[in-house]
Amino acid sequence: MKKRHVRVRFAPSPTGFMHVGNVRAAVFNYLFARQNKGSFLLRIEDTDEARNIKDGLQAILDDLAWLGIQADEEPVFQSKRTALYDKYLQILEEKGAIYRCYCTRERLDQVRAAQAAAGKPPRYDGYCRERTDMPEGMSYLWRFKRNETAQVAIETLERGQLTFDMQHFYDAPLTRSDGSYTFLFTNAVDDMDMEITHVIRGQDHLTNTALQVGLYEACGRTLPTFVHLPLLGTPEGKKLSKRDQGSSLGDVRDAGILPDPLVHYLLTVGGTTIDGVLAHEKLWAVPFTSRLTKASMITYDLDALNAINRRYVHVYASHELVAHVRAYTKARDTRFKEVDDVYLSRMVSNVQDEANDLIVLIDMCAQLAFPPAKPDHEGYIAHCKGDQARAQYLAGHIAAAFLTIEVEDGITRLKQWAKKEGEPMGLVLGAFRFMTTGHARGLSIGAIARSLSRAQIMMRIAQMQHTILVATDEPVVRV
Ligand code: GLU
Ligand code: ZN
Repeated sequence: MKKRHVRVRFAPSPTGFMHVGNVRAAVFNYLFARQNKGSFLLRIEDTDEARNIKDGLQAILDDLAWLGIQADEEPVFQSKRTALYDKYLQILEEKGAIYRCYCTRERLDQVRAAQAAAGKPPRYDGYCRERTDMPEGMSYLWRFKRNETAQVAIETLERGQLTFDMQHFYDAPLTRSDGSYTFLFTNAVDDMDMEITHVIRGQDHLTNTALQVGLYEACGRTLPTFVHLPLLGTPEGKKLSKRDQGSSLGDVRDAGILPDPLVHYLLTVGGTTIDGVLAHEKLWAVPFTSRLTKASMITYDLDALNAINRRYVHVYASHELVAHVRAYTKARDTRFKEVDDVYLSRMVSNVQDEANDLIVLIDMCAQLAFPPAKPDHEGYIAHCKGDQARAQYLAGHIAAAFLTIEVEDGITRLKQWAKKEGEPMGLVLGAFRFMTTGHARGLSIGAIARSLSRAQIMMRIAQMQHTILVATDEPVVRV
């Protein structure tokens, strides 16, 4: 039998918020498409107007592009496909597969209350299925007439065959009383229309899958294969919600996580780890099926994500990091525009071993590239135990160590001086760091020495000395 061309889709809503669980779905769909020489499609589920944001599509495209994911066809918008849904509804009506439900909210509430009292799960009781007393002019919605006695079987890649006993389900609404279509319906119609062969989505859609199978059958369509991905949970075992830190792609990016380490983490979370660092192409070649699990929830662990990210930051070629620094600072820190690639690349390779994420890396580069317009002399004096005379004394000796001498030798000379004078090494080196980078802690002395020229070091020390002088100058009163 000829193998069907694989078609998968990622179906986000344009709310401006990309949950990491959704990111994981995108990653798995894209991985599957690539490994099967298939097509990765994008469908924008934008029928809930109240939740859509302006530029929602662009945000999704940007997020995907950041991850290195591109759709193989133009995106499809549910809001523009009403005619298609009308057509499918009509087909189902002609086949007698759907019926109008006139039940009022009050009636549905009563049914639910009675079910609860009897200890039964709440679900529509099928009252309107055989109803003949159709009320005139009353609003209604369409429900799908499921085969209550069927055992519906689906193929999944993570669990093999799954069977649903349809008596435990209900007749799902395909429309709302205002005539709009439900998610359950549009989502299945689109999957049929787009000829999706593999539906890869969250575990939370398992019930939808069971309810949607009937629609495929009623339309005479072959069922796709399904993959249900576990939900991401907090370390406390709760479903990762919008409010949890790191739950959106935006959060993760703002925390200085890079795209490949994020993909690496999302492929391994809840399963076996992948050691080391994988080049972009190798990452997307990780076998799809080896990444599947039957778990319904897996723990999303920011520490583990950060650890993987750190690994990547430490070993990336500096030009790769430069590209990320450029992309990140483009709109956020325009000072970087003034720094040329050669200089930036040199600084990046000097500090990347010491940076745990992109934000720290950028901050370290900024400390080296951009001395503050006005040195923080109060901070510096505080570092020198509040002793202003001592602060000046140290500054003078630190500057002297770099007179007519290479930077590396200057550091050696400074250390020798501190030793000889019995000055605490931490205090002296901290003072050096403070004057050159604006911080008593942070960059290693070695990274500073490798990144700044002798002139830059001397200048920054001189600026600190000058600032202290000006700030503490007393007017001279002559008599
Ligand atoms: N918009 C749905 C979601 O984000 C899509 C579900 C699906 O992939 O079918 O959960
Ligand atoms: Zn009804």
